[in-house]
Amino acid sequence: MTSPRTRPALAILALWISGFLVIPPISRAAELKATHVFLVTTDGLRWQEVFQGAEERLMNKTNGGVKDVDGLRARFWRNTPEERRAALFPFLWGTVAKQGQIFGNSNRGSVVRVTNGRNFSYPGYSEFLTGAADSNIISNAKIPNPNTNVFEWLNTRSRFQGRVSAIVNWDTIAWILNAGRSRIPVWTGLLLPKDAPFPPAIPAWIETAQAGVTPIWGDLILDTFTSHAALQHVRNARPRAAYFAFGETDEWAHEGRYDLYLASAFNVDRFLGQLWDLLQSLAEYRDRTALVITTDHGRGAGLTSWRDHGAKTEESGAVWVGVIGPDTPGLGERASIPELTQGQVAATLAALVGEDFTRASPRSAGPIRDVLGR
Ligand SMILES: [Zn+2]
Repeated sequence: MTSPRTRPALAILALWISGFLVIPPISRAAELKATHVFLVTTDGLRWQEVFQGAEERLMNKTNGGVKDVDGLRARFWRNTPEERRAALFPFLWGTVAKQGQIFGNSNRGSVVRVTNGRNFSYPGYSEFLTGAADSNIISNAKIPNPNTNVFEWLNTRSRFQGRVSAIVNWDTIAWILNAGRSRIPVWTGLLLPKDAPFPPAIPAWIETAQAGVTPIWGDLILDTFTSHAALQHVRNARPRAAYFAFGETDEWAHEGRYDLYLASAFNVDRFLGQLWDLLQSLAEYRDRTALVITTDHGRGAGLTSWRDHGAKTEESGAVWVGVIGPDTPGLGERASIPELTQGQVAATLAALVGEDFTRASPRSAGPIRDVLGR
């Protein structure tokens, strides 16, 4: 109980504290080591594989369309979930889990939730790039996104202007980023929206090789081209903020090929390792770069529903996020923490380099505080 005599003093104290707290903080950027930030996504990769590795009941012909069961088991089957996930994602579990943080293991009380309620691609990319779900986005049609994304906003900040880019493998992402308006240089290997700028330092051979590949899906290119384009672009154009997107994981799952789904997931992890090694080998990036890794949606958890995702597949609304960087405490795999949302990725990307995206875009969810080092 508080006595009536002490109330005025407490009120003054409270006012003083609140007054103190509302003084806007001096730029966070000065306190942070990170000056560069990258986002890497792979479409529709389940949290189940990220945290438990390959799933045994899908490693066969009947449920997983696997062509070489013994070969697949030799590559990715191990006796414990910890060994399995390390075999599938050596960089994620060998480096990010030691130096950074990984969220989304629903089995251990860490959930990252998609809030758009649709659990398919355009709404998901829009949610993590703009910080909020948009209920008007109801298809994957190539419609310019009316919402401002975090890379577009970073490109208006003096430190980042002209140093922002996107190298992605699905043509629609250029519309999700609204490259015609946002002026973010974007490479998809395919047709771009009108007025979209083209990023520098994409080697001509990649375009030539890509053009000669037998088309499998039409609107997206094979991940290997995106990966080479991204690494060359970093080496030669030196972006300060960049987005790299992969998509074979989703496509092979839809095709019912668990073997190729796992193989493409492994390749994304390999790209992450190559990217991280490259960044640590260049003085501009070494110990000054934060990396965020996530996905646009999950997938079903059943013997056939693992192939699909969407509003009717509730489990596909659970995703995962990994963060590594010089200011992120190495807390590893997170457990027993409050639920996070997909939209928090946008503000987290900005906050990792000391920028406040939610102030510019109040609809956006706030950053994931635990990765910011205080
Ligand atoms: Zn899909």
